[in-house]
Parts: sequence; C-alpha cells; structure tokens
Amino acid sequence: MLAPGSTIGILGGGQLGRMLAVAALQLGYRVVGYAPAGDNVAADACSAFVTADWDDMAALRDFAAACDVVTWEFENVPLATVAALPEGLLACPVRALEVAQDRLREKAFARAHGGTPAPCQAVETPDDFNAALIAIGTPGILKTARDGYDGKGQWRIDSRAAASSVSLPGAACIYEGFVTYETEFSVILVRGRDGEVRFWDSTANLHQGGMLVRSLLPAGALVEAQVPAARALAAKVAGALGYVGVLTLEFFATREGPVFNEMAPRVHNSGHWTIEGAATSQFENHIRAICGLPLGGTKTRFASIEMRNIVGEEALKAHAILAETGEPHLHLYGKAEARAGRKMGHVTRVGHALK
Ligand code: AMP
Repeated sequence: MLAPGSTIGILGGGQLGRMLAVAALQLGYRVVGYAPAGDNVAADACSAFVTADWDDMAALRDFAAACDVVTWEFENVPLATVAALPEGLLACPVRALEVAQDRLREKAFARAHGGTPAPCQAVETPDDFNAALIAIGTPGILKTARDGYDGKGQWRIDSRAAASSVSLPGAACIYEGFVTYETEFSVILVRGRDGEVRFWDSTANLHQGGMLVRSLLPAGALVEAQVPAARALAAKVAGALGYVGVLTLEFFATREGPVFNEMAPRVHNSGHWTIEGAATSQFENHIRAICGLPLGGTKTRFASIEMRNIVGEEALKAHAILAETGEPHLHLYGKAEARAGRKMGHVTRVGHALK
C-alpha cells in the first residue's frame, strides 16, 4: 500500500486528471501532473505540474523522480513516453495503452477474448477502402485507427457513391460496418493489484455527433440483459492485460447481443455519475487500486441517475443550473475557452435514494 503523503504522477492534464487528483488529495496523496502545453485543467488540483513535450526525456526523468506511482488519464500518451519511465513506477502494464491506442488492435483483442466487434477492415490505400466497402458494404464508418476521440477522425459512409467523394486522411484507418443498435452502454470496472474486480452499474449512453451527451440509469431491459456477457468480456480483457485501475469497455446493445465498440484504459465520461451516484466513485477507486488500498463498494445509491455533459458556451451560464430543483450536482472543469463541441463540465441529477 502506498503510504499517505506519497506522490501519484498523472500523465495527461485534462478533466479526468483533475477529478482523479481531487480523489487522490482526499486520500492524503500528493499529485504531480505531466502534459504538453495546453489548457491543462488538472494542474489546478495538482501540487506540481510539469508542462513538457511527451518526448522531453529530462523532464520525464524529473517527473519520475518525484513520483511513487504513475498512472494516466489520457490513452494516447505515446508508448515511448511511458516506456521511458522506470517500469516499477507504472501502476498498470503499458500493454493496456498499446492495445487501446489502435482500433484494429483493440477489436482483435476483444475478439480473441470472446467479444463481438462490428465487421471491420484495415484501410490505408484507396484499394483497401474499395476492398473493405465490397466486403463489409454500406452504411459504414471510416475511422482513423489512432488518435480519434469524441467523433473526431470519423466519416459516415452511406453509399458506395458517397465513398468515392471521401479522401483518405493519409493515416491508417479502419472501415467498420454501421451497427444498428437500440442503446449504447459501457461497462466500467476497477481491478485491484490483487486481481479483484468490481463493476459499476452500466448506464445507457446517448451520443450526438460521436460525442457522449448523456448517461442514464436505469439503462433499460435490453442493456440489463446484455450486461452479464459484456462484463464477462471486460473482466477477461482486464485479466489478460494484468490491468490495475479503472477500465471501460463500450458496447452497442443490438437485438443480437452486445457488440463491442472500443475500450478506454482509464476512467470514463460515462462514469462521472459515480461521484454522487455510487458508493465509491470511479476516480476514488482508480486511486485506491493503483495505491494498493482496499477497493470501495460500487453499488448505485439512487433509483435513477442522469449525467449530462455541459458543452461549449453552455458553460458560461451553467451556474444557473444550481438554482434548479432536484439538487443538481454541477461540475465545471475550469477550461479557459468555451469552444463549440468542447466538454466544459457535467451535471448529475439523482432520483430517490435506494435503501
Ligand atoms: P467511437 O469513437 O468509436 O466510440 O465512436 C463514437 C460514436 O460514434 C459511438 O459512440 C457511436 O455513437 C458512433 N459509432 C461509432 N462506430 C459505430 C458503428 N460501427 N456503428 C454505429 N455507430 C457507431
């Protein structure tokens, strides 16, 4: 167990790091963040923050020297950055990042552990794209294999004719068949250093333009029926990776069963409701797991829960939410600029308490 007063290093400086840092502070730890220059809102909650490029070896050495354990809040931290840190410092094997950073690899990994992803093929050249369109058909989605988030780096392809007007982005891509689903849901688990796994309830997740806008509990009968299979896959994946901390797998609930979409080797937007809505939040349990502390209970505390993201300029008037009935829980991430499509905060509303 990491002693109180020890220092947790967090790679990445966004809102997930900020909420992780708050949880770490509450448990008596110090937090040092590391990220390239940008609007690193995690810095406000850190005792120190290193602003340096991912390949700045001197800065990484200093960061490592200041930390007792290192975790990440961002799955696209370059593998070379993580590999440059002393291995014993890492809370979780780097393999988890390696798998999750590449859409083809994560789908193959899920398939190898019994999951069912959408039909998909690698696309690098126009010939590959043509072959994928023939094999998989339309509609489908062309996605960059790496670095995409919140629907960025994705192109919906409705017909072969429409495909001909799409120019490939010049990076490795994946073409996936479009999945007809009733609901999207996520499985969020925490795995301790001793291999113990706990799950939070799965929310129904609503996306707009590829970005999560709302998570809801209860998630509905179809999701509830598919959660056991989805959890079994998530636990297998976590075990195979030797994972430590919070891991998220996203699914489409289809009439034929759960279709695996992607995994995030970190705390997740669809788990923000756990701050007020569960016995222990995803952030606190991630910190507990990486520090070797006993894991907290994950039970849902309310009959119904809604988490809604606050996006773009909506944040400028978000304090008005506090005057609404039902005791909404407002979280603002302290981002400097309320750009369109940018996640600025979230609000969680809960129904009546469960006994
Ligand atoms: P992703 O970045 O892969 O999570 O995609 C973002 C969102 O786009 C998903 O949460 C879905 O709402 C939608 N989406 C992605 N891939 C597919 C697919 N193969 N079929 C249907 N919808 C998809």
